[in-house]
Amino acid sequence: MSLLIKNGTLLLPDGARRGNLLVVGDKIASVTATEPRAESAVDADGMVVMPGMIDPHVHFRQPGMDGEDWLSGSMSALAGGVTTVLDMPNTRPPTTSAPLLSEKIRLIEAQTAGGPCVNYGLHLGASRSNAKEVLAAGLGHPPSRRRRRAASLKLFMGSSTGELLIDDDRALKELLGTCRLTSVHAEDEAVIRASAGGRDHLSRRPKEAALSAIRKLLSWGTPGRVYVCHLTSGEEVDLASPFYREATPHHLFLTDDLMRTMGSFAKVNPPLRHESDRASLWEAVAGGRVDCIGSDHAPHTAASKGRDDVSSPSGVPGVETALPLMFNAFLKAGLPLQALAALTSWNAARIFGISGKGALAVGFDADITLLDPKEERKVSAEGLHYKCGWTPYEGMAIVGWPKHTFVLGEAAYSEGSFSKAKGRSVVYEV
Ligand SMILES: [Zn+2]
Repeated sequence: MSLLIKNGTLLLPDGARRGNLLVVGDKIASVTATEPRAESAVDADGMVVMPGMIDPHVHFRQPGMDGEDWLSGSMSALAGGVTTVLDMPNTRPPTTSAPLLSEKIRLIEAQTAGGPCVNYGLHLGASRSNAKEVLAAGLGHPPSRRRRRAASLKLFMGSSTGELLIDDDRALKELLGTCRLTSVHAEDEAVIRASAGGRDHLSRRPKEAALSAIRKLLSWGTPGRVYVCHLTSGEEVDLASPFYREATPHHLFLTDDLMRTMGSFAKVNPPLRHESDRASLWEAVAGGRVDCIGSDHAPHTAASKGRDDVSSPSGVPGVETALPLMFNAFLKAGLPLQALAALTSWNAARIFGISGKGALAVGFDADITLLDPKEERKVSAEGLHYKCGWTPYEGMAIVGWPKHTFVLGEAAYSEGSFSKAKGRSVVYEV
């Protein structure tokens, strides 16, 4: 099968330019100024053609939890221009061993049997006793020839959803030393405990918790082997400069003010912070000091989020709005879309060693998103595909929603409808 995506503005590795993209089978076969013949064609005139987003941080909640499953999660991802997700391990049971990784893959295939499936990779969960599993999953350092089964080892330094907290410094140090790539939820549990009497969620998890955790990583972690999740301010980004750095859309577009109107629905770890933090985080993104945008898509049911701000769970959904929000902001600020493609696709592929993805280039997987910079639409939970049925961005006007999302050469999402296109488990570079 061949497909021509014609007359679009292509975000290529060496710059943005108008042209045509020929897809043969599941790969990009050529990038040309002329129009090669193909069995089918999509007119991308006026649209921006990007490598599909690789979202390195989602919680699709399976097995064992509410809020999302792999069919609703895949549809949400694809409608949001995300073609690959890396799923977090804090499920029930947590994904802490090679057999549990295999079990999750079987579950993904079963849950998406009736519809589309996004490409996926899995993070292995760190527990106090699973250093052997790190090696079994091919995540040991130095890298061995053992086949790699996971994107990284996810380590929780501060308590959050699930039971994967490691607050013992010796265990943290040992895991960081054992593993070739660790993704860290960097909030220091000791600081969180000492702040337990705070009057609201933000003061119970102060910025000092994040800074203190990053300082520990600076003394125990190795540059190139640590990925710090969801940094919330420019100060944290700068402190974490030897490491890979992630920011989330909710920390870039929302502040703690939202707790006043949405209550616990705006409760998330680390918390939404003050406007000055949000602004400094944006400066870090615009200045190229952040490597990846991760949605930290963490859906919970409306019933559980409706409880008070101590007992309600932390987390907001975001996989479907991440790329549109970022695209809209880059467009309005006049920032280069090339840098956006790096932030949302290329960098994640290189950091997590995902083979054949992250660029519109010959021989790469045809995971492609077409966005329309002319179409403005307001975010509404009704128009999104989340199982949880709500969004913290309700009512926000965004330009540049995905029109078509291709997974391995097949149109998985097109102007509101889905096919049964199947993504696959990603392959890791050695
Ligand atoms: Zn998370």
